[in-house]
Amino acid sequence: MIVRRRWTAAATTAILISAVLSHPGPSTAAPAAPAAPITLTSTETALVRVQLRDQAQLDRLVAAGADLANRPRARDGRILADLVLTGAQLADLTAQGATAVQIVQRPEDGSRHHAESVRAAQARTAAGLRAAAPNQRTTAAAAAVDTLQVQQAYWWTTGGQTFLQAQVTTTATDDPDVEITVSWRTADGATGSFPLFRFEDSGEYQYHYALPQPVPSRPTQLTATSSLGGVSRAVTPALWPNASPPPLPTGYQKDFIDAYLTPVDIQARIKRLARQYRDLVDVIDLPNKTQGYRRTAAAYLGDPAVAAVVVESVRFGDQGMNGVQVRTVDPGRSNRPLTVGYRDRVLTVSLATDSGGKTVSTTDEVAAAINARQSNRFRATVEDGSAGLPMPVAGPARLDDGLQGTEVPARPWTVQALRLGVHRDGSRIGVLAYSQEHAREWATPLVTLEFAERMLANARTDPATRELLEQVDIFVIPMVNPDGANYSFNDYNFQRKNLVNHCTGPSRDPRYRTSWGVDINRNYTVGSYFDGYVGASANCLSGTYAGTGELSEAESRNVIALAQAHSNIKFAMNVHSYGGYFMWPPGAYRADGRITLPRPSIDESKMFLDSARRIVGAIAQERGTVTWPSQTGPVADVLYSAAGNSADQLYYELGIFAWDFEVGNDRWNPTTGEWEGVGFQPPFDEAHGEAQEYAGGLVEMVRVARDHAAAQAATG
Ligand SMILES: [Zn+2]
Repeated sequence: MIVRRRWTAAATTAILISAVLSHPGPSTAAPAAPAAPITLTSTETALVRVQLRDQAQLDRLVAAGADLANRPRARDGRILADLVLTGAQLADLTAQGATAVQIVQRPEDGSRHHAESVRAAQARTAAGLRAAAPNQRTTAAAAAVDTLQVQQAYWWTTGGQTFLQAQVTTTATDDPDVEITVSWRTADGATGSFPLFRFEDSGEYQYHYALPQPVPSRPTQLTATSSLGGVSRAVTPALWPNASPPPLPTGYQKDFIDAYLTPVDIQARIKRLARQYRDLVDVIDLPNKTQGYRRTAAAYLGDPAVAAVVVESVRFGDQGMNGVQVRTVDPGRSNRPLTVGYRDRVLTVSLATDSGGKTVSTTDEVAAAINARQSNRFRATVEDGSAGLPMPVAGPARLDDGLQGTEVPARPWTVQALRLGVHRDGSRIGVLAYSQEHAREWATPLVTLEFAERMLANARTDPATRELLEQVDIFVIPMVNPDGANYSFNDYNFQRKNLVNHCTGPSRDPRYRTSWGVDINRNYTVGSYFDGYVGASANCLSGTYAGTGELSEAESRNVIALAQAHSNIKFAMNVHSYGGYFMWPPGAYRADGRITLPRPSIDESKMFLDSARRIVGAIAQERGTVTWPSQTGPVADVLYSAAGNSADQLYYELGIFAWDFEVGNDRWNPTTGEWEGVGFQPPFDEAHGEAQEYAGGLVEMVRVARDHAAAQAATG
């Protein structure tokens, strides 16, 4: 119970698990700690890569509401998770055997990232070398008891370094201890090997794999062997993604992003593009206004450390309720009843007294009296831990919405879409790119806005771009979740959800203010939490809270409204960060038996994969970033189950080829030999690089759409 209470509190700071898992066997003792411990002050919050003690510790975190943002990653037999934590929570985890290995991101600070990640990575490399010792398990001379199949073997070269990645399945699916080793040979005769790690999801064996491994040159042969004696056929690794876009013509214009953009900045950018490219742009106001950057105003009446009641305004703080005062008073006479009065913006609760004149009202009685007599203006709840306690004479306390942003208009927000093209009449095939469903993913609107401006600027100078805008009708929603984004920029940079607070009772306590809101990408109708699918929560404080029902939120209704209103849209990209993924449906499964939403047909699966290779190739054109084959595929297979996500609804209900990007690929550190996570709000140079490369990916999606339309026309 102690553990549970602690992690209930932890969940309220929007825990986020990003990388996870590995070999669960008993031989996975924790390797060495970093050279110097990474610590935070108790109230400091940061995104931290943590090496967990064991699978059970991970399972407890997940059960307590941790929010998986990335897929389990095999890493030298260790379980690594990226978590948004306070120093106090990190200390708890450390006391339970975990070790912090990298500060991925501090609030408002990218400067320490590099030094700490390098130091941590050095420690991990040392540990990894030990963990990679050859497998000593004896199999006697017995015949092989398992059969191996190489599912994937791909190589590529980036930044002068060649990498190899493999995925292998064994028929010994129920043996958690089976160990698989991959051996490789290059064209010039170099050889080497590396271990794979078992990947289970929802209790079901999936396959063995490893992160991309550096090799000295192009590998020409790969074989897998198992500790049970199984040996795979030798295969020739294939080049990944083996597709590249047409070279950019001389004078091609790009690089339209020079800073992170707040919602107000994005609004201005949309307006400017519409003005500058009048002949090629429509701005579409989406039909559902959001709540706006607003909150109710609240205050503690009393001392939360002793006894307190939370008093909250019914209206938003900016609607005249910020600054309203609330107090309890001693009437100074005996045998008085509990009374509540509101006058001159002061809510006064006069406490009941006994025959000796002593105040006798409890916290519960005070809250009930406010709710009974002032329900049009206020609601009151007993602070967690104060139930039944004597109510002190307290206040006046001033109600406040707690919002720090001063440049943000406090009114319902109209989310906008750009429509780009020469023929914006539904006669051409449509594509939709949308971003920032999740507020803290600051790089994502940079991707879609860079894409939009490239199409527009080059339409005047580059015939190939002009031709794309002749043939394709492009829709872009740069920022699906403006209220959450405003909160992320002004108040709490790790905010993921929107600003609508559906909590009731004690979870409305302002101490939980950074955990309120609905996860927009869990609020759609297909494969939803409400349908029994995995990967969303009914807890209003969870990072993946699904809302009060399907499409309960204006933000998700807007995406669907746009797609429904334009039936020519056949391709869509939902842009998220971070981790470097390229995904498509199915995006959700039921826990029992891990039954996914229906698989695409063989033809459609081929369409998804062939197009993905083209788009991954286009992304790589900018600065060599290659999205790993292990992170290219159906959401449910390569990431996790995400019940009620938007791509699934676009695909299953509207017949749109709907993909998801997770921009912000791990960066290879050649000095340490480690892949390093970039986080949600990396130093701007990195975000700029992500915007440039993934905008190129979106341009390729437009070419894919054009080619698809042409092929359809040709076959009649
Ligand atoms: Zn996201």
